[in-house]
Amino acid sequence: MTAEPQLERTGGAAGFTRQVDCVVVGGGGAGLSAAVNLARMRRSVLLVDERDRLIWRHRIDNYIGFPDGIPAAEIRRLGWRHAARFGVELLLGHVAAAAPEGNRFRLRIEGLPEGGVPERPATTVPRDPEMARLFGEVPPGSSIDVLARSVVVATGVVGHFPDFPGRDECVGTSLFWCIHCDGYESIDRTVGVVGFDEEAVQTALDMLDFTDRVTIVAGRPEGFDVPASRLANLAAGGIAAYPFAVFDYQNSNGQVQALLLDDPTRTRIALDQVYTVRRSIPMNAVAGQLGAALEANGQIIVNTNQETNVPGLYAAGDVTSPHDHQMSAAIHEGNQAACAANYYLYQPVQREPEGEGWARLSRPRGPAREPAGAPTEPGHAAAPTFDRAAALWQPAPRASRP
Ligand SMILES: Cc1cc2nc3c(=O)[nH]c(=O)nc-3n(C[C@H](O)[C@H](O)[C@H](O)COP(=O)(O)OP(=O)(O)OC[C@H]3O[C@@H](n4cnc5c(N)ncnc54)[C@H](O)[C@@H]3O)c2cc1C
Repeated sequence: MTAEPQLERTGGAAGFTRQVDCVVVGGGGAGLSAAVNLARMRRSVLLVDERDRLIWRHRIDNYIGFPDGIPAAEIRRLGWRHAARFGVELLLGHVAAAAPEGNRFRLRIEGLPEGGVPERPATTVPRDPEMARLFGEVPPGSSIDVLARSVVVATGVVGHFPDFPGRDECVGTSLFWCIHCDGYESIDRTVGVVGFDEEAVQTALDMLDFTDRVTIVAGRPEGFDVPASRLANLAAGGIAAYPFAVFDYQNSNGQVQALLLDDPTRTRIALDQVYTVRRSIPMNAVAGQLGAALEANGQIIVNTNQETNVPGLYAAGDVTSPHDHQMSAAIHEGNQAACAANYYLYQPVQREPEGEGWARLSRPRGPAREPAGAPTEPGHAAAPTFDRAAALWQPAPRASRP
């Protein structure tokens, strides 16, 4: 067990390949939590993140410990400091390729191209000075290889927001996607929901708990994709529904002012806030290359220990779940992944006998179930039997919202 990353010469001119106990891919809440906890277990940890600009300005108001709220960017900044304190190596770069190699994982980390990784949101926000100080960087146009005994994938999701001029300033200020996160900010405001499916309709109806000034726009020329009964629910709730695409999101200084519809009369809907409800895309490329099983929607399948189907490969945070995207969940899952990876990294003599200890505790995600015969509180019926092996990789039932 070493706290310092080792170097090993692998293949002549190819030079040195870094070797570490764990590479954490992704530097959001989940990745930072995994890295801090692994480093505190004396593992050598390399955390790689490709987001070299803190673009979204949202404040998190439901994270315990910050009663006045905290900007999401500040959580990251605190996380960098925290990780650096325990010896995590922080690196700016894009994990472009990954493959199993014997009982290890080889990752190729490329320098970030000028203007950011293609197909990610482009931004003009400058690099945070603390990031510039704490992170190393793979130079643009070059790459390094790293061999890791374990990998935690915490790559998040993309795709909640439409592209329009001024978008970056509006996100988290007047443009949102998650009612659980930001519905409270919508009390008595005039709100537009943009989305065409059941999730969007449900968001508009949920919004009635916060304000009675709600409009829904399909956001595509084909209109809504819900049964007529759901459109009737909207009408009954006093929610006007427009089956059109959005021509423009009019905004100024981070404040969305109106939606201009792509209808024959260019209808203008004045409002204070917009929620765009669209399917997020899990950033699952690295996990997929390493052989992780994925759900049909692309999320990485994990159990309650954040173990994937590949020994030594863990996943945490938004990339593992379709809806419940929360900072607290990401940080919890990162910690769980660290514990599981740490157990995996034990020497054989440190491990408990097969079927005991850590392995016994892992179970599929979903409601907790215990084997028959487990102690129960007085007055409670015995828990039903549970075939862990059969259930391990069945998709766990998930809450449908937020
Ligand atoms: C506008 C907005 C408001 C929100 N409000 C709240 C709120 O009020 N409360 C709350 O709890 N949550 C809120 N959230 C959600 C919360 O921010 C997320 O749940 C949390 O950030 C998820 O953390 P994560 O680590 O899983 O992913 P992320 O924070 O998305 O981090 C993933 C990182 O991985 C990097 N990455 C991906 N692929 C690669 C690769 N190949 N190589 C290197 N790096 C890679 C990405 O660039 C990114 O930096 C909000 C989100 C948004 C956008």
